[in-house]
Amino acid sequence: MPEGPEIRRAADVVASCIIGQVANEVWFAFERLKPFEALLDGVEVCAVETRGKAMLTRFANGLLIYSHNQLYGRWYCCPAGERPDIQRQLRLAIHNRKSSALLYSASDIAVLHESELETHPFLSRLGPDVLNSTTDQALLLARLADRRFRNRQLGGLLVDQGFVAGLGNYLRCEILFVAGLHPRLRPAQLTGPQRIQLTEAMLHLPRQSYETAGITNDLTHAHELMAAGADFESARFQVFRREGLPCYRCGAPIMKQVLGGQPTYLCRQCQKMI
Ligand SMILES: [Zn+2]
Repeated sequence: MPEGPEIRRAADVVASCIIGQVANEVWFAFERLKPFEALLDGVEVCAVETRGKAMLTRFANGLLIYSHNQLYGRWYCCPAGERPDIQRQLRLAIHNRKSSALLYSASDIAVLHESELETHPFLSRLGPDVLNSTTDQALLLARLADRRFRNRQLGGLLVDQGFVAGLGNYLRCEILFVAGLHPRLRPAQLTGPQRIQLTEAMLHLPRQSYETAGITNDLTHAHELMAAGADFESARFQVFRREGLPCYRCGAPIMKQVLGGQPTYLCRQCQKMI
């Protein structure tokens, strides 16, 4: 599933083709959303935002389209009148004079009024978005100390969108490795310096991934690996999908474990339980 950085990059592309433009046609595949087409036609798109893994497309009349890509949803932007050559089902189209923003395969789409945001079942329970500029270390330290979260295992906690929004499996694995923490540790067990390392990694890695289209490895090291012939996928991560390969810090083999139904990658030497 795309994580916060990937959704924000997709939102940037969508924004570049529809913001500030009047939507001359909005089309929904789902019958339940058809009544909204006439309410959005002829209205300017004023913002495209992300909330964790969800996207909000705001219109100047106070309506907004909520979409969540889940596993398979994917946005495309094309010159007006064109379509990508793909075998997917179109679910939402926002056309203007120059461009079309097209969402394929997603099923979690709704039209909301601004006033409904706070009661939306998914949005209302989201924690602070790690990519938002207002999310800082003090806020994350307070989250770790909160009684709702302090006794949860970090491996499950980091991907709980109610704790913080935007982290998924690859970011969880990479953050815990960079912070030197085992996924079964709980916030209440961490020392002060460990909390600092964890919250620094929670802020730094998603932002670096957003800026670099997915690199959570040390940037200098990733570029050295690619200069030496490694492809992007094998250079971008420190532990994720590196099972059996040597840890970049200590040389021990990276292990793969299933945690909460998802494969988790870690170095047993660098990420101890104490
Ligand atoms: Zn190691």
